[in-house]
Amino acid sequence: MNNKVLLDNLRCIPDFPKKGINFRDVTTLYKNGYCMQIMLDELYELYKDKGITKIVGIESRGFVMASALAGRLGCGVVLARKPGKLPATVIKESFSKEYGVDTIEMHLDSIEPDDVVLIHDDLLATGGTAKAAYKLVQHFNPKKVYMNFIIEITDEGLHGRDLFDGIELTTLLTI
Ligand code: IMP
Repeated sequence: MNNKVLLDNLRCIPDFPKKGINFRDVTTLYKNGYCMQIMLDELYELYKDKGITKIVGIESRGFVMASALAGRLGCGVVLARKPGKLPATVIKESFSKEYGVDTIEMHLDSIEPDDVVLIHDDLLATGGTAKAAYKLVQHFNPKKVYMNFIIEITDEGLHGRDLFDGIELTTLLTI
């Protein structure tokens, strides 16, 4: 169920980054200590018994709660980054965006086969970004993969969740 405090504190910016896009600005949740506490408590309740050993945060808004939750769970954080940012050997996955192609990368030594992985990002829209992250993580063949997003957008004909049939996927807010 959507938490009213989170919904009330989420800022929407019309026509950003371009006309017709209603941008959900999670920075208004991140800057609010009470919202941080609510989100972290909800995430902890969802994942405390799953045996998570690594949380993959997707650049850059996904890094915030990935790190906070990892601190609470006592697990590691892995960064899924835009091209050219990670210093060691990487694996990469490209995906289509509305205009053009984007790529994300992870370090080749970031996940082991005995890891239980949670992929986290701030927002699920078309699911393209998360699918690329999922494919990267699958490359390591970990024991199990979970997925979480703070916000799931469903009100604009989006069905990002459908790309992840059979995968345990949770969200804190559905819009
Ligand atoms: P998708 O690939 O279409 O699912 O878009 C999700 C990715 O784009 C995530 O990495 C988000 O951070 C970013 N994104 C798309 N729309 C928004 C938005 O309204 N607010 C914040 N991030 C967004």
